[in-house]
Amino acid sequence: MKNKKLPCLYLVIPCYNEQEVLPITSVLFKEKIEELMAMNRISEDSRVLFVNDGSKDCTWDIIKDFSEKDKIFEGICLSRNRGHQNALLAGLMEAKEKCDITISIDCDGQDDINAMNQMVDAYHDGAQVVYGVRSKRETDTFFKRKTAESFYKLMKWFGAEVVYNHADYRLVSSRVLREFSDFKEVNIFLRGMFPLVGFKSTSVYYERHERIAGESHYPLKKMLALAFDGITSLSIKPIRIITGLGLCMSIASFLAIIYVFVSLLAGMVVPGWSSTVLCICLIGGIQLICLGVIGEYVGKIYLETKERPRFIISERTTDRKND
Ligand code: UDP
Ligand code: MG
Repeated sequence: MKNKKLPCLYLVIPCYNEQEVLPITSVLFKEKIEELMAMNRISEDSRVLFVNDGSKDCTWDIIKDFSEKDKIFEGICLSRNRGHQNALLAGLMEAKEKCDITISIDCDGQDDINAMNQMVDAYHDGAQVVYGVRSKRETDTFFKRKTAESFYKLMKWFGAEVVYNHADYRLVSSRVLREFSDFKEVNIFLRGMFPLVGFKSTSVYYERHERIAGESHYPLKKMLALAFDGITSLSIKPIRIITGLGLCMSIASFLAIIYVFVSLLAGMVVPGWSSTVLCICLIGGIQLICLGVIGEYVGKIYLETKERPRFIISERTTDRKND
């Protein structure tokens, strides 16, 4: 172990309007890095990299201030708010050139930082990707827990394989990140994409805490949007379901046609207003839903063909140091 070079670790932390929580959690992140250094698990040039995702409060000023006072902190600033997934990707792409391993974690202290020890151990044992999996969610509200659990089940059912109860707390080696940089899509859903890269992976389990300060940016609406994005970017099962539905409807219509003809020949054609209207409404509704789902995929293709940048970095704390 001694003659092997220690890996350089970058903690990648997306932050959006987190001025209340950053001063508290940044200390914890620093202590964790220093602890891992002291244990001879990571190298001395390991860092904490904050990604400011276009915050409207003082988050970026706080990050700049940290980096001026302590070289362990670095920061990049996105030119506008691009959402958690893009912010995380920006951080990972920035870090991959500078380190051997990254650990992505939210800045609100909900994910247990002590799980990092096991993650780094797993890396030393050969794993290139280590998923942080929430073993219990008792501190989440009943509603949040149930909606989050349904989220994973829904994703699985629709054919988007994700590690159950794993969010974006994960160790990824720079080797994997270099391969991952060839995944060029703009609709990104990182937790579903890393398993596609392959390489040796494992999971570590931890308990999820309450947010230390500030508020969640993932209300039900955003969570549903994320689930929908995840499904449509990883799987075409919804379109297959529509095809199946169309097939069933066609068979049912065919049987109905036979029934109509038989009734006609038997002279039993009574005014069937209710059943006609019912059928029209039902089929009309189903068709619209199906069109909507297909439209969603077409929309995604439209966005993908533009090949717009997924994020733009407007400032780096390291630039300031080099000035
Ligand atoms: N976040 C971000 N951009 C956004 C929304 C959130 O970078 O547009 C960050 C946020 O600062 C936090 C992480 O993503 O570090 C997770 O967000 P949050 O804690 O609000 O979500 P929850 O844990 O409630 O699902
Ligand atoms: Mg959170």
